[in-house]
Amino acid sequence: MLDVKVMDLESSDKGNEWDIAIVGGGPAGLGAAIYASRSMRKTVVFEKSVLGGQIATTDEVDNYPGIRAKGPEIAAMFEKHARDFGAEIIFAEVLSIKKVEDEFILETTEGKHRAKAVIWAAGAEPKKLGVPGEKEFTGRGVSYCAVCDGAFFKGKTVAVIGGGDSAFTEGLYLLNMVGKLYLIHRREQFRAQRYYVEQLKSNPKSEILTNKVVVEFVGDKFLKGLRLKDTKTGEESFLEVDGAFIYIGLRPVNDLIKDYVDLDERGFALVGEDTKTKTPGLFVAGDGRIKPLRQLVHALSDGATAAIMADEYIRHLESVKVG
Ligand SMILES: Cc1cc2nc3c(=O)[nH]c(=O)nc-3n(C[C@H](O)[C@H](O)[C@H](O)COP(=O)(O)OP(=O)(O)OC[C@H]3O[C@@H](n4cnc5c(N)ncnc54)[C@H](O)[C@@H]3O)c2cc1C
Repeated sequence: MLDVKVMDLESSDKGNEWDIAIVGGGPAGLGAAIYASRSMRKTVVFEKSVLGGQIATTDEVDNYPGIRAKGPEIAAMFEKHARDFGAEIIFAEVLSIKKVEDEFILETTEGKHRAKAVIWAAGAEPKKLGVPGEKEFTGRGVSYCAVCDGAFFKGKTVAVIGGGDSAFTEGLYLLNMVGKLYLIHRREQFRAQRYYVEQLKSNPKSEILTNKVVVEFVGDKFLKGLRLKDTKTGEESFLEVDGAFIYIGLRPVNDLIKDYVDLDERGFALVGEDTKTKTPGLFVAGDGRIKPLRQLVHALSDGATAAIMADEYIRHLESVKVG
């Protein structure tokens, strides 16, 4: 009787065992899942929030070769493709990763899991402005996702903060529903492609305010406006808005792997095209690694490479054990 109990404890402590565990169900993670499960590896994807990651939060994707569709539609196609090949998807947050000998142990909100190889595809998340009122009014006027929250501002006045592609493309999306849109940028020049800048400029409902930073989000129960500061004159002004969408860049989500991977000063994984890290069996794919372009095609390409590298790594482990 005692023996049985001991065995039960041991087996439950072992958790689920996988060949390849993928952290993050964004494009890199789902791309990796397709390749890993197609290589007949027992594959799991952990996703803490929405499958599709960032791409599920955007409206129109018009630069992914062969497919022009809404972000959530593309995410659903990736998910189906990964499931069709046998990848398991678990909605859980990975809380920690530890390597013990030849095995990775992942603590998740759905229990403990073990894997021979791990593909870290946790991507990136929106940067915050870090000014008073931002946190307080998030979800009550302040948002980081036009596709998720744009519909709440039908006919209303909103501001988009940022000067890159995301600020402009999401601004263009919002213009389909809002009454008035201000694009606020701290400089005069934009990082965004000229194509998007011209499109937004030519819309009569839009107005671009350059050399301005938001110093405070102001309101009562909901956001009422923004306190702005002119970066050249220092002059302050108040802009009445119902909503504010912040697109000022991304922060890599690499905190949990920092002991196993070299990171640059911004927190991106110093990992090359082969996605290999200094820790054998751990691979980083997608927006979380250093690269010249953070786009769908690139994330998927990384996912494919990481899966093939992980498969090769496991084959090597197996051959050492047999040998
Ligand atoms: C507004 C916007 C518009 C865009 N438009 C385009 C476009 O038109 N064309 C294009 O090519 N690209 C576009 N991009 C970029 C593209 O979406 C990204 O390059 C791509 O999503 C990166 O994929 P990823 O899998 O590396 O990371 P992400 O998409 O960031 O996915 C990472 C996933 O990991 C999950 N995760 C993180 N930590 C954990 C954890 N501990 N446990 C479990 N899960 C975790 C996250 O919830 C997330 O779902 C856009 C991005 C944004 C923000």
